[in-house]
Amino acid sequence: MGKFGDLKTCRRKFLLSYFSEDLAENCLNCDNCNTTFERFDGTIIAQKALSAVYRTGQRFGLTYLIDFLRGSQSEKIWDEHKNLKTYGVGADISKNNWFDYFKDLIAQGYLKQADGQYPIIALTEKSDEVLRGGAGVELVKVKIRDEKRRRLPPWPSTRIFPNYSTNFGAFEPPLLKMKMCRRMSYSPTRHWSKWQPICR
Ligand SMILES: [Zn+2]
Repeated sequence: MGKFGDLKTCRRKFLLSYFSEDLAENCLNCDNCNTTFERFDGTIIAQKALSAVYRTGQRFGLTYLIDFLRGSQSEKIWDEHKNLKTYGVGADISKNNWFDYFKDLIAQGYLKQADGQYPIIALTEKSDEVLRGGAGVELVKVKIRDEKRRRLPPWPSTRIFPNYSTNFGAFEPPLLKMKMCRRMSYSPTRHWSKWQPICR
């Protein structure tokens, strides 16, 4: 069963099919039936994703598959996988967008994700039509998210407070254990990672 929450198609139809009942038409009543999702022909994207799952043996999770598709140089990617044709074919799509597309493919039943500790991705009967038959796949348009946007470090930044434990209970000001400077300038309008020590 795909993730119900990620579903972009009729929920009632989805639930009934889960219980082996078929609803010919969409119910036109659930939240998804009442939302207009912009869709596009995502066949090529789907083929790349499914092929990555197939080529790597249906034994990896989303993160690995996406790194593989994007041609990551990481040592985590198996050497033998770096020789596969699918390796790096999805480099033009950001990580976040790949996550969205995978969730969509899972919700539509083109892929399935195992429950539990190892949520590996595997093919389904529907995958075959896409990989072999070239059946078209519609995907929901996602916001193209900017990968280059700077990621903020976890709070508090270990760069600013190298010796400070990150194990806070509540919102404890990270001032007390500063060795060099005893005060910080901190401004409510700036992100905490920009707060500066005041040494005087
Ligand atoms: Zn519906």
